[in-house]
Amino acid sequence: MYGLSEADREIQARAREFADELIPFEDEAERAGGELPRDVTAAQAKRARELGLYATNMPADLGGPGCSYLQQVLVQEQMGRVTNALGWVAATPPSWLPAVATPDQIERYVRPAIAGEREECYAITEEGAGSDVDAITATARRDGEDYLLNGVKWHVTSYNSADYAFFQARLVGGPHDGEHAMFLVDLPSPGISVVRTPAYSHTISHHHPIVAFTDVRVPAANLVGAEGDGMSFAYEWFRYERLMVAARCLGAAARLTDEMTAFAAGRVVGGQPISEYGLVAGMLADSLTELFAARSMTYETARGIDGGADVKISHAQCSMAKLYASEMAGRVADRAVQVFGGRGYMRENMAERFFRELRVERIWEGTSEIQRMIIARQMTKRTPTALA
Ligand SMILES: Cc1cc2nc3c(=O)[nH]c(=O)nc-3n(C[C@H](O)[C@H](O)[C@H](O)COP(=O)(O)OP(=O)(O)OC[C@H]3O[C@@H](n4cnc5c(N)ncnc54)[C@H](O)[C@@H]3O)c2cc1C
Repeated sequence: MYGLSEADREIQARAREFADELIPFEDEAERAGGELPRDVTAAQAKRARELGLYATNMPADLGGPGCSYLQQVLVQEQMGRVTNALGWVAATPPSWLPAVATPDQIERYVRPAIAGEREECYAITEEGAGSDVDAITATARRDGEDYLLNGVKWHVTSYNSADYAFFQARLVGGPHDGEHAMFLVDLPSPGISVVRTPAYSHTISHHHPIVAFTDVRVPAANLVGAEGDGMSFAYEWFRYERLMVAARCLGAAARLTDEMTAFAAGRVVGGQPISEYGLVAGMLADSLTELFAARSMTYETARGIDGGADVKISHAQCSMAKLYASEMAGRVADRAVQVFGGRGYMRENMAERFFRELRVERIWEGTSEIQRMIIARQMTKRTPTALA
């Protein structure tokens, strides 16, 4: 199905096998606030690397597996079958960085990230700048051979495990005054402190603290690209991440659909399996139908990128895939909780966990409303026919 090549099916099977190894750890993670013992997580990360499922987005000439976009989607789809973000051990370092990094940055950040020795986090969002990234107020001021960074960043995912951050700021002074720039900031560095670590709906080991940067000094060699480039990197990152969000939502919806179908076929109420009641059968049928549509759309978008599609068209298609797959997965999780009845409300049931965890897929990497705005803008600019 889906016209997958032998190599595609092989990496898909490898990823599925790995996801099946992670699933038995979900309940323990849920009970422990998302944390597994360090040695367990380290062994899982090692296994992801051995299986060639780590850094799948990184080119072979830098030591990565050099997978196609479709293959990256196939891997992340399987990781999406696992709750509590345990699949994040099959991490994907910043896909856009090798193209813009200096040789020095390649050695200090890119190669170690591909080897699994360094991990990044993104400090872009602020209290008053989320959907509207252009509203950021964090600043970067040139000071001799360095820049001084200031600002308070929100929702900095994985700050607790990362050892470097991408920090986006507005330049103050100089020829690019007011424009954006992005910096690589080593963690910890003097002047960086956690304001607080709020609790979120999901139970995962990656925290999303509010982080203050106060006169943080970074060498000019840590500027990514040129002054004024900041926003373009964020767009590149969003495009990639939106497609991978779609992929993980496919995996979540697939597992939910499998498990609710098996449960509905076996759960007898009033003398017959609940799957034979039309109202339940409808929930099963709608779930698979929508999953089929979302998967076809996501795979097609990945194939387009692999085939060298126009970047603006891919941008709109990544938004469509993210929008539809995340909303589809949310509906499927809601139905799954309903099909499981009281069992679906227990944290030990994957439907309950997905019900909470999938909610953020409609918010991060651009909310559903922002995706709709992007799609509609491209429709009027390029015609709907050009996009789908
Ligand atoms: C768990 C989690 C992890 C995150 N991780 C990171 C991270 O690692 N790094 C990082 O930088 N950020 C991160 N974020 C931030 C995330 O990207 C933002 O929350 C998201 O982009 C939305 O921004 P906001 O929260 O400011 O909402 P707002 O922008 O305040 O939006 C509020 C509401 O208004 C709507 N809205 C806003 N503008 C428009 C418009 N033009 N048209 C229609 N509706 C609109 C939105 O859709 C939403 O419904 C994370 C967020 C969460 C929840």
